[in-house]
Amino acid sequence: MPLSQLQELTPDWNWNNYFKDIDLLAPPDINVHQPEFFKAADTVFQSTPMEDWKGYLRWHLISDTAAELSKDFVNENFNFKERILRGTPQIKPRWKRVVTSEDGAIGEALGKLYVGFCFPPEAKARALELVNNLKTALADRINTLEWMDEPTKHAALKKLTAFTVKIGYPDKWLDYSLLQINRGAFVLNAIRASKFETNRDLNKIGKPVDRTEWGMTPPTVNAYYNPKMNEIVFPAGILQPPFFYPQADDAVNYGGIGAVIGHEMTHGFDDQGRQYDEIGNLRDWWTPQSAAEFKKRSQVIVNQYNEYEPLPGLHVNGELTQGENIADLGGVKLAYAALQKALDKNPAARKEKIDGFTPEQRFFLSFAAIWKSKERDEEVKLRLNTDPHSPARFRVNGPLSDLPEFQKAFNVPDGSAMVRAADKRVNIW
Ligand SMILES: [Zn+2]
Repeated sequence: MPLSQLQELTPDWNWNNYFKDIDLLAPPDINVHQPEFFKAADTVFQSTPMEDWKGYLRWHLISDTAAELSKDFVNENFNFKERILRGTPQIKPRWKRVVTSEDGAIGEALGKLYVGFCFPPEAKARALELVNNLKTALADRINTLEWMDEPTKHAALKKLTAFTVKIGYPDKWLDYSLLQINRGAFVLNAIRASKFETNRDLNKIGKPVDRTEWGMTPPTVNAYYNPKMNEIVFPAGILQPPFFYPQADDAVNYGGIGAVIGHEMTHGFDDQGRQYDEIGNLRDWWTPQSAAEFKKRSQVIVNQYNEYEPLPGLHVNGELTQGENIADLGGVKLAYAALQKALDKNPAARKEKIDGFTPEQRFFLSFAAIWKSKERDEEVKLRLNTDPHSPARFRVNGPLSDLPEFQKAFNVPDGSAMVRAADKRVNIW
């Protein structure tokens, strides 16, 4: 909406002054995601005394910068956000906190150093090869899906072909030369870095979308699918053990990073991602029949995860975690299919046992190993309410109990907790 219309929504907030304060001199049309929010906010502007606003904003400033202030603030911030909310008994050593804040503030400068040490070109080439093989596996799967009709398959394949793949680190590094970093107060360096990011975003207004940008820094141990760019992104940080071993055999890497790659790919077609088309526009390309089939099958996975009870009386929220659970199951299934294809080309590897394990067994062991972790009960409780991912244990046991391939690989008897009854198995990808 134009500025005038936004102003009508909130008569008691002066947008002109606000935009001037943030150096946005001529704001164009504004995408107001939640008009109702602004209407409600306006009544709060009227009814809340100025002194309360000052206190509230002061509190936010302190809370947001507490980790960068003096020891008392740092400790109290840790006490509440980590100890009380997450059960962490001890603050991390300073060097770890410093690296984390550098990653947050100037992550691409840190990342440039990081990839120089940890991410050789061979690793990038092997990761790209894995991505391409997973892409083929998903295309095969879409082609043979029993529940998706032809027009939807056609559009899905078009979207898959159009995926942008980013691996390791950006082709073009961010230029931090305008950011002032000095030996003065740490908190001021942090505030300048955060302003630098805000200004960088404001500078994008009215310009073409930069499709080369990254939403995570290179050292990040994570990956993402971004529906608005139709891209999958794997920072160098996750392209290392236990996810990815440049020297290991295929089974280990398909079970690890392969399952992550498959996971991210299916996000392009899940309850969120499927609403976007191949160039990232919000456009429904599903036929009503295929959409209904997808929803029906998704309900089965919602039911499955609702059963899980990580702490007495506290269940996984199957609805909240739906998209991630579908991606976990789809990811491991696609990676398994891609491994089978790789083994078809290499019959000697199919027969080869390593440490007494078949390739299929190594695949599933590797999949379990990537989620090997420990969490305190407080952390589990917090995340059950806020995290769209299931607790690590169920990210392994959930998908594998749905897979006949897993049952077969380890000869698990019917009726075991790791084998779901055939009529309760989820079957989407
Ligand atoms: Zn995900």
